[in-house]
Amino acid sequence: MQLNGKVALITGASSGIGRAIALRFAREGAKVVVNFLGGSPDREAQAKQVVGEAGGETVAVAIAADVSKRAEVEAMFQQAVAKFGRLDIAVNNAGIELKKDFLEVTDSEWDLVIAVNLKGPFLVTQAACRQFVAQGDVPGVESKGKIVNISSTHEDIPFPNYTSYCASKGGLRMFTRNLGVDLAPLKININNIAPGAIATPINQAVLDDPRTREETTSEIPWGRWGTPEDVANLAVFLSSGQSDYVTGATYYVDGALALQVTKY
Ligand code: NAD
Repeated sequence: MQLNGKVALITGASSGIGRAIALRFAREGAKVVVNFLGGSPDREAQAKQVVGEAGGETVAVAIAADVSKRAEVEAMFQQAVAKFGRLDIAVNNAGIELKKDFLEVTDSEWDLVIAVNLKGPFLVTQAACRQFVAQGDVPGVESKGKIVNISSTHEDIPFPNYTSYCASKGGLRMFTRNLGVDLAPLKININNIAPGAIATPINQAVLDDPRTREETTSEIPWGRWGTPEDVANLAVFLSSGQSDYVTGATYYVDGALALQVTKY
């Protein structure tokens, strides 16, 4: 087990990639905090189901918080540390997309995408790093804590009609590069995972239409969509002691999509 005894907080973990990471981390021996966006009984039920599948309340807890709101993020960290005593890993996974002609995008739409996808990681990463520093060194462990951001191939590759999303993920790329430098003296690791096309609810409309699903498949050199578990595999490595000298970088999980992309 690669994360035995570690405590990990995963944002947006009631579905998709975040859910897969929470379940995989639990299988690797971690205690997991399953963050979800409050205000929906369905999402709350999904988050509680993840807790159950992870092994129940001794190893997992579901905590509602909007990652774009400082007070909610800080309250979540207090609850998480009260439950499990410490924190070792934070995964910034929560994210939203907006597909819209740039000329039609409103202020509130722009602000929401940037708030969830970029301010969220700022608030969660800051709270996590403060906790890592307060905890101090663990004898025999080089890294004080791990931050893993779920970015996107669109931190670098344009995506027509998704400018707010691309700007948020491009911002996350520089966030991570800069903090790679700032956090290295504190011995805190930060890295991005850039998924390509992964079969999750965020892509439900594309997946539900056989034409668009096949069109996307044909763009992927590996010949299939990615799974949330493909992403979780790399998240385990970047959260484990195997990656203590790995920081400030982005790693693609995309079946080589970004290397030959023409449309996505
Ligand atoms: P998803 O829609 O299943 O997951 C996103 C999660 O974020 C949802 O559970 C949602 O409720 C949560 N969320 C939204 N706003 C939130 C907020 N304010 N506070 C807390 N949680 C909030 O889709 P997914 O594909 O699993 O997306 C996870 C991450 O992966 C996102 O950051 C997304 O941009 C990124 N990503 C996905 C793909 C893909 O192809 N699926 C590709 C590249 C990047």
